[in-house]
Amino acid sequence: MRSGITRLLLLGAGHAHVQVLAELARHHPADLQVTLLSPHPSQTYSGMVPGLVAGRYSVDEVQIPLAPLLQAAHTRWVAGRCVGIDSANTQVHWQGPDDDTVHALPYDLLSIDTGAVLDRERLDAELPGAREHTLPLRPIDAFVGLWPEVVELAQQRPLSVAVIGAGAAGIETVFAAAQRLRADGVPGSTFTLVTGGPEPGPGYIPGVRARIQRRLRREGIHVLREACTRIDDTGVHLANGAVLRCDVPLLAIGTHAPTWLRGSGLALDDAGHVLVNRFQQSTSHANVFAVGDVSTRDDHPHPRSGVYAVRAGPPLAHNLLAALEGRPLKPHWPPGYTLNLLSCGTGFAIASWGPLHAQGAWVWRWKDRIDRAFMARYCGVHANNAGPRVPHPEDERRAR
Ligand SMILES: Cc1cc2nc3c(=O)[nH]c(=O)nc-3n(C[C@H](O)[C@H](O)[C@H](O)COP(=O)(O)OP(=O)(O)OC[C@H]3O[C@@H](n4cnc5c(N)ncnc54)[C@H](O)[C@@H]3O)c2cc1C
Repeated sequence: MRSGITRLLLLGAGHAHVQVLAELARHHPADLQVTLLSPHPSQTYSGMVPGLVAGRYSVDEVQIPLAPLLQAAHTRWVAGRCVGIDSANTQVHWQGPDDDTVHALPYDLLSIDTGAVLDRERLDAELPGAREHTLPLRPIDAFVGLWPEVVELAQQRPLSVAVIGAGAAGIETVFAAAQRLRADGVPGSTFTLVTGGPEPGPGYIPGVRARIQRRLRREGIHVLREACTRIDDTGVHLANGAVLRCDVPLLAIGTHAPTWLRGSGLALDDAGHVLVNRFQQSTSHANVFAVGDVSTRDDHPHPRSGVYAVRAGPPLAHNLLAALEGRPLKPHWPPGYTLNLLSCGTGFAIASWGPLHAQGAWVWRWKDRIDRAFMARYCGVHANNAGPRVPHPEDERRAR
């Protein structure tokens, strides 16, 4: 795309970028200079976080250390967060962890895989009090850091735990929290899933929803089919006027597009996500690509979930190198059906694929094997040891 050195800037170490780094470890053109801007030295694998909450996995087991991948991929790491993109001047603005100064990073080719966020202003408008009074599941690293404090508290006194949001992440988290606090806390803690109105798992087919409900009943988890209107010191306020007294409200509601995309000059969808074409390339800027929860396909909108971010990884890696080398880009077709493995605490899970569904301990063991194989794959990358391409587990897992 240009003579001399091309600067590829990767924003975020999300699912697809981990695969781009692995690909760069195998093949790194000499005239390519790669930088990763991401706040953490590791990437937390969200699919295993419910297992961490349940006490089955340690923090190390659910995090991919980035240093070996970066070294193998000859990629520089800048520890910080993107706070703006100036696409006209091909620059990204960023801040370090404890630094108010805004720095600029120039790029020739930009790839964005920063995930979705909980936007403070929108959260304040949609659910007043949530920011001050809840423990959100996102950002996931912060949640992973704070969860042990909940366990410690449950060892001192019984807790009332409410998970607000009954999508897949909320469902898995309430099962996991119940399992952990019943095993490691003093007796008497209670667990509630606040659905916002519909049945738990509204995105699932009726057969799977029925399985989820049976399992929730079996585990003694209360379900409140109510919208949560605000949260304060007294508890979680519901649309029917009731107040759920609650020690630990966990927030598992839907996410937003990052506000720093506004004013970037990039084409965005109505909700503010980067609009991309079938090559995962910005519809407005040919030198910008985006994947995962931060993006929306203009031709093929699909749910925001790890599985789609993962599937986009190999085509993204191909297209970044193709753009660099002036080769044709390859279209990426997101899958119609994906295998979805929903854990209900460790030891039991529900599988679904299109109209088919099943459940049992074997589903959990299957999920566990897939997840561990993935971690072994990306945690095992060292310089000159990138190994053959192996599919990501969430390739084989779920759509959320
Ligand atoms: C508890 C839980 C369990 C889940 N389980 C599953 C599951 O089993 N299967 C599934 O398909 N989905 C699951 N999901 C959803 C899944 O986590 C997301 O859809 C998926 O992580 C999106 O991937 P991504 O690559 O877009 O971004 P992410 O995985 O969110 O990665 C984003 C990266 O960008 C970095 N970053 C963020 N902001 C910035 C910034 N401003 N500048 C630079 N870097 C930044 C982050 O630190 C991170 O490295 C789960 C979600 C939760 C909360």
